[in-house]
Amino acid sequence: MLTITAPDFCRGIKTERYENKRKTIKTEQAEQTGKSNDRSGGNYRYLFRGVGFNRDGVMKTRVCTKCGEEKPETAEYFYRAKTYRGGLNTMCKVCWIKYARKWRAENPEKQRESVRRWQAKNPEKNMEAARRWRAENPEKEMERKRRWKAENPEKQRESVRRWYAENPEKAREAEKRWRAENPEKVKEAALRRRNTLAPNYLKQLISNKYDISHSEIGDELIEAKRRELKYYRQFKQLKQLKK
Ligand SMILES: [Zn+2]
Repeated sequence: MLTITAPDFCRGIKTERYENKRKTIKTEQAEQTGKSNDRSGGNYRYLFRGVGFNRDGVMKTRVCTKCGEEKPETAEYFYRAKTYRGGLNTMCKVCWIKYARKWRAENPEKQRESVRRWQAKNPEKNMEAARRWRAENPEKEMERKRRWKAENPEKQRESVRRWYAENPEKAREAEKRWRAENPEKVKEAALRRRNTLAPNYLKQLISNKYDISHSEIGDELIEAKRRELKYYRQFKQLKQLKK
């Protein structure tokens, strides 16, 4: 049997709330008896009635239904549970953590469903928690993003497209930076456009030659240029073979 008396126990947890409650009790007692009561120690037994101490100022205890250990009946040792006696769980915290972990492992579907329900009910808390997790696990976050991109290439492309459309200024900046950092890839891409007679390559040629902007160049013009270049290249190849 644990016998911690209120005054001893209280020394560590004199919070503002308890102090205010103590003052109220003192005032009430002074009104009833007609004299002030300075000895604070004696008042804690009333103060803590119902919050972990019985009438005599002896700490209330509770036997855990799982491990059978006797522990102080406080929120420090038992999780709060509104529907239980005294507003505390019947299992101690240690046992509850083990029990909850086991349940989650055995019911992954139900666990996910429960998490989803909580997230739907607490969108702001969820966002805050997610933000904190990302800040605390930058490497895992990067890995998670990488995996998501690999598994959802369509969505990834769509999201990039949307970002470009919504942030034209930043997009130009990012592109400039990327081009400066990857000269080899830029060269490769240019060569590829040239070899395949890609629309952008043809547009550039037309734009240079006739001094008109890209938006003014229609599909017909591009197609004409493509045909012209194709014949020109074939003609050049033939000439080379003759030599
Ligand atoms: Zn226990």
